[in-house]
Amino acid sequence: MELIGSCGINNDLSSTIGLDNLGQQFWNLSPDELVDDCIISKQGIVTDTGALAINTGEFTGRSPKDRFIVRDDITENFVWWGDVNLGISPEKFDLLYARMQDFLVGKDVYVRDAYACADDKFRLNIRVVTELPWSNLFAYNMFLRPTHDEIQNFSPEWHIICIPSFQANPEIDGTRQHNFAVLNFTKKMILIGGTGYTGEIKKGIFSALNFILPHQKSVLSMHCSANIGLTGDTAIFFGLSGTGKTTLSSDPNRRLIGDDEHGWSDETVFNFEGGCYAKTIDLTRDKEPQIFDAIKFGALLENIKFKGDTSIPDYTDGSITENTRVSYPIHFIENIAKPSIGSAPKNIFFLTADAFGVLPPISKLTKAQAMYHFMSGYTAKVAGTEVGVTEPTTTFSAGFGAAFLPLHPAKYAKLLGEKLDGSEIRVWLLNTGWSGGSYGVGSRMKLSYTRAMITAALTGKLDNVNFEILPIFELAFPSSCEGVPSELLNPRNTWANKDSYDQTANNLASKFVKNFEKFSEGTSSEILNASPKVLSR
Ligand code: ATP
Ligand code: MN
Repeated sequence: MELIGSCGINNDLSSTIGLDNLGQQFWNLSPDELVDDCIISKQGIVTDTGALAINTGEFTGRSPKDRFIVRDDITENFVWWGDVNLGISPEKFDLLYARMQDFLVGKDVYVRDAYACADDKFRLNIRVVTELPWSNLFAYNMFLRPTHDEIQNFSPEWHIICIPSFQANPEIDGTRQHNFAVLNFTKKMILIGGTGYTGEIKKGIFSALNFILPHQKSVLSMHCSANIGLTGDTAIFFGLSGTGKTTLSSDPNRRLIGDDEHGWSDETVFNFEGGCYAKTIDLTRDKEPQIFDAIKFGALLENIKFKGDTSIPDYTDGSITENTRVSYPIHFIENIAKPSIGSAPKNIFFLTADAFGVLPPISKLTKAQAMYHFMSGYTAKVAGTEVGVTEPTTTFSAGFGAAFLPLHPAKYAKLLGEKLDGSEIRVWLLNTGWSGGSYGVGSRMKLSYTRAMITAALTGKLDNVNFEILPIFELAFPSSCEGVPSELLNPRNTWANKDSYDQTANNLASKFVKNFEKFSEGTSSEILNASPKVLSR
């Protein structure tokens, strides 16, 4: 057995997690060394700007149906079991892991010591063992990086084992198919196999923190981005995938705290991560300069194509997947908060990409509406590529991140409600989706307009303007906003056919109502009253 690279005194994978008879162990290699290994083994190509481009293989996105949590004394009575949180027995976990241990015999592994949570009070040490060098680079980019000295005495609390080429056997292992991500809170382990999609690594720890922090430490964990203004005012942006968390939190006038996962304790808002994971589809320097310029040596691009025979990425090409991505350490963005911590937010934005074109581009929520929309967690997916399918579909995901929330949504809502109660925090709903009609007729809200609306909200420019109430959804939207054409602010105005707007709005409202039925019990009448009012016609 050979240890290569730099490791501390706690470097025994046998006594800690029972990995024996491994090949070479590459410990905490630098990005240079990992990139070299990728190139030599033909797993990656260096782009014109020095980034490493790899393909993640069969999976180019997460696989929520294959994410399991071990049912044990810690989880049994607290996890909200169901379609999102699938249970698996401790025995099956042990069997699966035993087969992974066998699989690794004689094989080289890459080991990375890292941690989550920028607030020291909540720091969680993680050891990531990966089969592939680029999975390890992802862990380096996305988690917080211990100093050289910290590595000397590093003692891991959680372990992630990521083996893309290991295939589960559903009959033996109790999985649904060959790929899986399994969380075990007793053993503090996350097993990932059958998939190379890197996002499983970060969202695995995120799911663990979404259990640990609210349940054991009374900290609200959130699927949101966060940044901080010149006067120290924190803003957070909740939203499901593709609604703009990463894009909108990178703002030249505000320091970035983080782009995806945060905790809100009594004193702080803190990033869980040490990096960003941005979408690159249709990326241009013009529209997203900070993200574009972060794609340099050390950054890891996933599933992109190149322009002709060059090494210049073609970000317009979605032929491998629309979910092309890049990960990079957070300091690749120029303007960041150090450490990644802010105070309690002054402004909260809920981002939704409403492909129906019904919701106003910006509206100001009452506290009851804020709770209602947080629990609803609405966004829409655009129509598929199938011929004739032109209707967008609704997605409701409680807390804007149900896929990563092991506890009942009411638990997170309760923590948020306590923070909002009696506070001056302003909550805004932003539609970063369609205007002028549904997908197919209207068009996506211009990024520059959405940015202008956020700036106006953050700088108090919406404090003294007139607000109007949108019927059905009863949302208060401003009549004017600096940098945005006023006619865009009332969504109904932007539709050529007003009847069609009214009908679409009413249909969407009924979907909100139907989705909320499951929360009607145990939710206060004040919040229930914040529901849209479907008109009978
Ligand atoms: P994930 O949770 O998957 O990381 P995300 O919320 O971070 O998703 P982004 O990566 O910010 O989502 O993706 C938003 C995408 O939508 C970007 O590709 C961005 O360029 C595009 N976009 C187009 N118009 C807008 C708009 N008005 N506001 C925000 N994003 C927009
Ligand atoms: Mn993001």
